[in-house]
Amino acid sequence: MRLNINDDDQLDAPDVSVVECKIDQLGVDEFLVLTSEPGFYVQTYQLSKGVFTLEYRQGAPEEHYSVEPTMTNSTEVKRAFGLFLRGSAGFENAFDWQSVSFEDDVSLVSGNDPLSSEPLVEYRGMLMPPDWPQEIEEAQNLREYQIQGQAWHRIPRVCEQDSEAGNLCQECGVRVSELHVPGCRLETCPCCRGVLVECACEIEPD
Ligand SMILES: [Zn+2]
Ligand SMILES: [Zn+2]
Repeated sequence: MRLNINDDDQLDAPDVSVVECKIDQLGVDEFLVLTSEPGFYVQTYQLSKGVFTLEYRQGAPEEHYSVEPTMTNSTEVKRAFGLFLRGSAGFENAFDWQSVSFEDDVSLVSGNDPLSSEPLVEYRGMLMPPDWPQEIEEAQNLREYQIQGQAWHRIPRVCEQDSEAGNLCQECGVRVSELHVPGCRLETCPCCRGVLVECACEIEPD
C-alpha cells in the first residue's frame, strides 16, 4: 500500500491511524490516493471544507467507481480508506458505488434543430453533439497533465455557489467533482491555479 498525499508526499505501508490523520489534515483542493497495486486505488478530493469526493478503481478505466451521493464527509472517507487498507472484502459492499460510465445515459433526440446538420443527443438533460458524451467520459480517465516535466493531478470541477451544485458545467457539461473536458474554459490549471486555457503553463504530451 502506498499513500499519495496531494503529490507532495508518498508514504509506503501506512497504518490506519496515519491514513486517518492524513485525511484530517487534508486541505481544501487537496487529494489522497491509496494504491494497493497499479490501477487499484481509492481516492478522495476535498472540494470544500468537510466535503469530499470518494472514488475507487479496480484495474481498468471501465472499472472506475464513484460513491453515491457523489459528495461525502471525512467519516465516510476514513471508513473507505480503512477498509481498503485492510484489503477487506467488505469494501465493495460498504458503499453505494456507481460506475463512472456514461453511455447508458445517452439518448438520441428526435426533432433536432433543423439549422444544424449534425444530430444532437440528449445527455443528462443537456443537448450536445453525439460525440460529446464520449469526450466527457474520456476526460474522466485523463487524470493527469504533464507540465514542466512533472505529472499534475487535474483539478475536478468545483461549484462556486451552492445553487450550482446540481448543474452541469456550462462550458463542457460535466458534473461537480468530475474532470472538465480538456480545453474547457472553466478548468483550473493544477500547476499555477490560474485558468488553464489562459495561463502560461504548457501541457506536454505523455
Ligand atoms: Zn467544464
Ligand atoms: Zn498554469
